[in-house]
Amino acid sequence: MNKPIYHMSGSGYCLRAIVAESLEYEPIKHTQAEETLLLHATRCENLAAMQMQDEGLEIIDGGHCDRCGRNGFHVEIEEDDFILVGHLDRKVIINGTEYPVEIKSLGRFRHLMFKKKLFEPFPEYATQEICYMRSQRKPGIYWVMSRDTGEPLKYIINDFGGELKIPGFTHIELDLTYNEIVSNLIVAQYYIQTKTLPDEVHSNGCKWCNYRYLCEIGNETLPEVGDLGLVQAANLYREGKDARDKAEDDMDRATASILKYAKESETSKFKITDIASVSYGGLVSRPRVDEARLKDERPDIYKQYIKMTKPFEDIRIYLKKGG
Ligand code: SF4
Repeated sequence: MNKPIYHMSGSGYCLRAIVAESLEYEPIKHTQAEETLLLHATRCENLAAMQMQDEGLEIIDGGHCDRCGRNGFHVEIEEDDFILVGHLDRKVIINGTEYPVEIKSLGRFRHLMFKKKLFEPFPEYATQEICYMRSQRKPGIYWVMSRDTGEPLKYIINDFGGELKIPGFTHIELDLTYNEIVSNLIVAQYYIQTKTLPDEVHSNGCKWCNYRYLCEIGNETLPEVGDLGLVQAANLYREGKDARDKAEDDMDRATASILKYAKESETSKFKITDIASVSYGGLVSRPRVDEARLKDERPDIYKQYIKMTKPFEDIRIYLKKGG
């Protein structure tokens, strides 16, 4: 059986969000404004890497990860019950040894907050960094750039052996261990197996949480509507979605049986009585354009070829499980 995969960047989220993701609740889609902000943050990370190079650090870029479609050095840690996957923003080579580099580009107020309180208001950053350092078995370099002023904050994290001495960097130690992260994920596994959501734990992260619609915090500002017609429509939507999920599941299982026959009998075309005809073309892969990478690396070309669709009504309906 395949082990579940957790992302290092999300392993510090609240347990409820981790479990919701694993149970395949639908994440809230990013708005266009959020997509633009994410792209801007990625570009700011490139600027921060240039700042590091300007200070004489030998920085290497992991480039694009073809396995995951993300940017950075792909790293994994395999535990007994799950696998943790992450992508290091950069690495730095110091005295011939590579160390993991994590870059954050924050708006002015969050940058100031980090300067004053370090990881305390950003527990998910601490979790991510602990996982990255564990994957490399090395202390980490942490660079926090202000998106507004460019001011960098520079840290060396958990250098217990005192192997790193870089002028201008502050040594700090995180008040969190890798074993605590693993224990938390083992608790998440329990909820996932029993298909239940843990209680809400409100935090700063709730504002950006992709599953906030499942929580009081995500709904407390929404006006509640009890119109009978809308309640019926919502129930009809749920029934339709359940029926579609079941139909997709049936079709997947049927396809697997027919595929098994086609492969084992080495038959590429055949009929199944008068119900269906089958054409099997073997294991194939098709080229696709990596839109996110094109948008990031060659925005000039991306803009030339982008076409707007016809206007459509942008409505999204998120179902609360068991609601
Ligand atoms: S909104 Fe807050 S409490 Fe709810 S899942 Fe997200 S982080 Fe957890």
